[in-house]
Amino acid sequence: MTVDIARQGDLAIVTIDNPPVNATSQAVRQVLSDAVRQTSSDPDVRAVVLRCAGRTFVAGGDVTEFDKPPVPPHLPDVIAAIEDADKPWIAALHGSVLGGGLELAMGCHARIGAPATKLGLPEVSLGLIPGAGGTVRLPRLVEADLALDMVATGKPISAERALKAGLIDRIAEGDLLDAAKELARRTTAPRRTLSRPARPPKDPNAFAAEAATLRARARGQNSPVAAVAAIERALELPADAALAAERQDFLELKADPQSKALRRMFFAERQTLKDDPRAAGTARPLAHIGVVGGGTMGAGIAAAALLSGLSVTMVERDADALAAGQGRVGDILDGSLKRGKISPKRHAEIQAVFAGSVDYAALSDADLVIEAVFEDIQVKTTVFKALDSATRPDAVLATNTSYLDVGQIASAVSDPSRVIGLHFFSPAHIMKLLELVVPDRASPDAVATGAALGKRLGKITVLSGVCDGFIGNRIMSAYRREADYMIEDGALPADVDKAMRDFGFPIGVFEMQDLAGLDIAWAMRKRRAATRDPNERYIEIADRLCEQGRLGRKTGKGWYRYSGKTAEVDPEVTALIEAESARKGIVRKPLSDDAIMARILTVMQTEGRAILSEGIAAKSSDIDVVMVNGYGFPRWRGGPMFMAGEM
Ligand code: NAD
Repeated sequence: MTVDIARQGDLAIVTIDNPPVNATSQAVRQVLSDAVRQTSSDPDVRAVVLRCAGRTFVAGGDVTEFDKPPVPPHLPDVIAAIEDADKPWIAALHGSVLGGGLELAMGCHARIGAPATKLGLPEVSLGLIPGAGGTVRLPRLVEADLALDMVATGKPISAERALKAGLIDRIAEGDLLDAAKELARRTTAPRRTLSRPARPPKDPNAFAAEAATLRARARGQNSPVAAVAAIERALELPADAALAAERQDFLELKADPQSKALRRMFFAERQTLKDDPRAAGTARPLAHIGVVGGGTMGAGIAAAALLSGLSVTMVERDADALAAGQGRVGDILDGSLKRGKISPKRHAEIQAVFAGSVDYAALSDADLVIEAVFEDIQVKTTVFKALDSATRPDAVLATNTSYLDVGQIASAVSDPSRVIGLHFFSPAHIMKLLELVVPDRASPDAVATGAALGKRLGKITVLSGVCDGFIGNRIMSAYRREADYMIEDGALPADVDKAMRDFGFPIGVFEMQDLAGLDIAWAMRKRRAATRDPNERYIEIADRLCEQGRLGRKTGKGWYRYSGKTAEVDPEVTALIEAESARKGIVRKPLSDDAIMARILTVMQTEGRAILSEGIAAKSSDIDVVMVNGYGFPRWRGGPMFMAGEM
């Protein structure tokens, strides 16, 4: 780590070089505060340019210092020293200007950004608020509405937006340092952010409504609520008082178990594949991907691959199904274009590398093929036999099956070592999670290739052994079963859904089933009926609903009845549930929210422990990563295994 001070004429160029992201470690803070003293006392220095070496400006605090007692100089003091300096400090920004990095930049007297710079205060996602003046300086540079949004959601903004909003003063056309020096030459005196008045919202009513929405959306998470309060305070209190209150809140949130859970999740998501011998092979190069099946999942997977720069060939069973599949992919790509995620030029380039066929021969040069056809072992076996002869012998073959035995599917291929599971989540081009399922015979190279694809697609990849439902669906099946027990024991679906929502899930398990449709699970239950243990407790309520044609939202009725999108408790369902309890001689007893969540969590944790002891998951944090990223478990609670550990 270095902080270098170079003289160029009457300018001092202060360069932070602390790879990989120029975090504000203690050593950086120390040398920066020395740099303030040194440049202030040097009569030959008229202005200072603050910049970073490497791929980014300061992108945040030093995460390794997080759980240690803070060592001075503290960042707020360093920033205050810069702001109070009597010579202008110009921040030259590139890459990701995040957290403490943006706070530092806002303490400078002018800011210039490279065109691709992103600026944000993402502390809320780690259970925190900015603690070095971010919530007080930001609403002095930009209107309160934008400040509220940035601090409470943590979402970064582009350089262009930052320029329009007043967060930066200029975007460098050519070389950033040259442009920053030019700006420094034109800046005659320091203009201190804290001496500016706070910028009130355009429409106070809209601002108050947005604040209320953000508070409600937090649903139990503390940091977004604190973030909203901090911006409101910054508009009302003098800067000094607002700064003191911000620091106090920051320190309190840092000690909050929610922040501990979020920080642990931050690391857990980055360590899923670390040191796992199953993925220790060498990834094969990936350029051309095959997707068999262009339904919901196949289309999403194809779109994700195309958007990451891969060529894709889709194979369907007939021309009509192919046209439908290509249409689904087209819709996703058009959506990306409309939302400005891709340019028209990129859209056209992607179309040019997207092919379709009803003939497996079109996959002859594919590096990896993902099968996403119907969830039926016969259909899948037939597809893999066709892939066996149509593809290159070194191509990796993957199935997106939700529950079927990947080892059995691999047996359809003459070399099963090239078969893995790639279990995407719906919508596959949006959901971050990917379960990489590793059958016994899979080669480490095939697994490493699957992991490389996950990385290319920007997914969080978790390895899973083969079992019914892998990590996530296996745990979900277990707590769904428990939810069924609970409605027979005395709760109603709306009670369970409410308890889950209040806990922090975006949706309850019965609402979720209505959304997805009850027929798929019904078909699975019928398939398994013959092999079911007759002594196992079996709840027939869902079967009764399906027999009545109540297949969920798509039929207007399921666990609830629907008028439009609004779910209502249906007395018919309540009567049916009560009748089932009575038929089994169960005396129904209402369950409190706490009792419901205790039962759901216990089942999740018990199943999770079994998954660990069977070696299906390598570490308990992987299970939490799956539940948080695939099943809506509230991130700020850290996942079921984390909660078990804390208890
Ligand atoms: P879907 O019914 O939407 O799509 C299946 C597609 O496969 C159809 O377009 C069909 O024409 C095509 N197909 C069927 N047989 C074929 C064959 N022999 N050759 C070529 N194409 C064929 O189903 P889906 O929801 O996309 O699910 C596909 C797979 O993904 C299943 O194994 C499912 O369990 C799994 N999965 C689904 C989800 C989900 O949420 N829907 C999530 C994860 C995994």
